[in-house]
Amino acid sequence: MIYKTTLLMKQSVTHDVLRFVVARPEGFTFEPGQGVDLAIDADGWREQARPFTPTSLAQDKVLEFTIKIYAAHSGVTRALAELQPGAALTISGPWGTIRYQGPGVFIAGGAGITPFLAIVRHLRGEGRLHGHGLIFANKTPADVICEKELRAAFGAHANFLVDCDAGPGFETGRVDEALLKRRIANWDQHFYVCGPPPFNDAVMVTLRRLGAQPDALIFEQ
Ligand SMILES: Cc1cc2nc3c(=O)[nH]c(=O)nc-3n(C[C@H](O)[C@H](O)[C@H](O)COP(=O)(O)OP(=O)(O)OC[C@H]3O[C@@H](n4cnc5c(N)ncnc54)[C@H](O)[C@@H]3O)c2cc1C
Repeated sequence: MIYKTTLLMKQSVTHDVLRFVVARPEGFTFEPGQGVDLAIDADGWREQARPFTPTSLAQDKVLEFTIKIYAAHSGVTRALAELQPGAALTISGPWGTIRYQGPGVFIAGGAGITPFLAIVRHLRGEGRLHGHGLIFANKTPADVICEKELRAAFGAHANFLVDCDAGPGFETGRVDEALLKRRIANWDQHFYVCGPPPFNDAVMVTLRRLGAQPDALIFEQ
């Protein structure tokens, strides 16, 4: 099923991430964490759908997407960044394997936070986020998507990692074995993993080695 929709507004989130608010097509529903194939409904772009994740609440009257723009590359994200309100878009029905399965730790790299934004907003809205943790890796503090919101949501259970030495509130380094051993006390919980493919591969191997249950690992398959 392909739904037609319209861009209502776009707004800056970070230096290279934009929030797109689009009309919610009639009959469109999704579960937090699922993605859709989104395309610009214009000649030359219609066939070039790309996967993105609604970051709004499932019951909201509009849909929000939080999208990292690759400005140096003539792809769909650069074209999306140039759109003005009123532009026509299409979205597919929702798909994907990332869904909330129970309490655990969200481990994200960069724009991989988007499915977890949807899940975290949903859990927070229902007062059920307590006891969950966040490990969020980025290159620099300026790259962190929705930092204030995530700090408020997770409190002391939010861990922000960056590649550089960034001062208070940030840890320097990668999501490696040493970091996971330091930050995770309970291995009998769910681990939600989303980031670039090399990030996912490395984190999942390490989680398994440290004792995470294979069926408690949730990632895009
Ligand atoms: C299920 C799922 C959900 C997703 N949800 C989101 C989301 O909510 N938000 C989000 O920001 N992303 C999301 N992504 C990633 C998103 O789909 C890609 O970033 C997007 O498809 C890139 O489209 P593009 O046409 O701009 O780049 P493409 O032309 O498709 O290029 C793909 C990749 O090329 C790389 N690239 C960058 N610059 C260059 C260059 N100069 N030359 C060549 N390659 C370059 C980038 O790493 C880019 O990812 C999701 C992916 C999946 C699988």
